[in-house]
Amino acid sequence: MTKGNREDPKTGSRMERFQQGVRKRTLLAKKKVQSITKDDVKSYLLRNAFVLFTVVAVILGIILGFSLRSYKMNYREVKYFSFPGELLMRMLQMLVLPLIVSSLVTGIAALDSKASGKMGVRAVVYYMSTTIIAVLIGIIIVVIIHPGKSTKENMHREGKTVQVTAADAFLDLIRYAPLGILFLIAGKIVEMEDMGVIGGQLAMYTVTVIIGLLIHAVIVLPLLYFLITHKNPWVFIGGLIQALVTALGTSSSSATLPVTFKCLEEINGVDKRVTRFVLPVGATINMDGTALYEALAAIFIAQVNNFDLNFGQIITISITATAASIGAAGIPQAGLVTMVIVLTSVGLPTHDITLIIAVDWFLDRLRTTTNVLGDSIGAGIVEHLSWHELKNRDTEMGNSVIQENEMKKPYQLISQENASEKPLDHETKM
Ligand code: ASP
Repeated sequence: MTKGNREDPKTGSRMERFQQGVRKRTLLAKKKVQSITKDDVKSYLLRNAFVLFTVVAVILGIILGFSLRSYKMNYREVKYFSFPGELLMRMLQMLVLPLIVSSLVTGIAALDSKASGKMGVRAVVYYMSTTIIAVLIGIIIVVIIHPGKSTKENMHREGKTVQVTAADAFLDLIRYAPLGILFLIAGKIVEMEDMGVIGGQLAMYTVTVIIGLLIHAVIVLPLLYFLITHKNPWVFIGGLIQALVTALGTSSSSATLPVTFKCLEEINGVDKRVTRFVLPVGATINMDGTALYEALAAIFIAQVNNFDLNFGQIITISITATAASIGAAGIPQAGLVTMVIVLTSVGLPTHDITLIIAVDWFLDRLRTTTNVLGDSIGAGIVEHLSWHELKNRDTEMGNSVIQENEMKKPYQLISQENASEKPLDHETKM
């Protein structure tokens, strides 16, 4: 408090009164932070119980999977064990097609053609730029780290054939019901080939992919979100945890779509007209993680074949990796299939894909998580950029956006408080 204010607050100038108000609000906010009680923690945990449960399921799945590996289950036993996980996958996949169709229809119907056109252009520009950035990161990282050492003699190749039996048909019959990520992860770990094969070059390759994906997911995407929206990306990403963990568990961005919708709309408060318009398309064509992975894996295969790539071939890899990621379906290991396009475009042996299959189930989870993050951040950015069209449409329709925002935008309010940014245009002007 200034001296003048203490002596006679009532006669202080307008400016002083304004400053006093700001200080009061800051003090109140600080007090709020200091007085977090047990009840607050309890209610926070209760509110986020589902997210916590999902995270715990992943951890338990990993522990269970590793502890069961010593039992050396045969193929069939592993299939039975992972069955509850498969049920969850089927259930999520069952929702995807109707969800994509209905959300696109309602999303487009809620916008006029001009607004949807603009929004579409923004989404496509975002998709293309982030995919190209991802491909470049993949190429730079694999060239710098150089995990392939021009020899594949000691590398493990993998390729399995499976038999379908009557038991499979029976399991097919009861694939209606919801069950857990825990079994999906544990089942995969039990099924995993001997860890010994993941030595040397393959381990280096795995680390290189992880570093590339981390750079894209932890630095590039949050930075892009911050630069465009001026909001705290970590608060936004915090609201997506459940979707990210589901992506990690299912290896499928399409199967994760229902959860991604929920996180974006209910937790992050992104406008439904945006999510419904942008997310289904994003989950189908925007796969940053896959693009990064395909470019990186193709160059790794070139390295183990001692195949020197010239600049033209690297450009070809960038283009085909982008195309292959757009073409890949949002299902487990789809990227591995479309990688054939990338390899053939520069004359690399396609059967060398078998060199990286052993770790693909794991890397697939990580790239799917990056894909889902890319789609979600895209929705946040497109919403921010399309605010005027959405507002105009609201005015036309006579809707009150304020009400919705107050209910649905906790992340914006928090980031505003923290960063003491200027209020968002739409919140003050409406
Ligand atoms: N599994 C990935 C996804 O669903 C696609 C891929 O294989 O890269 O997003």
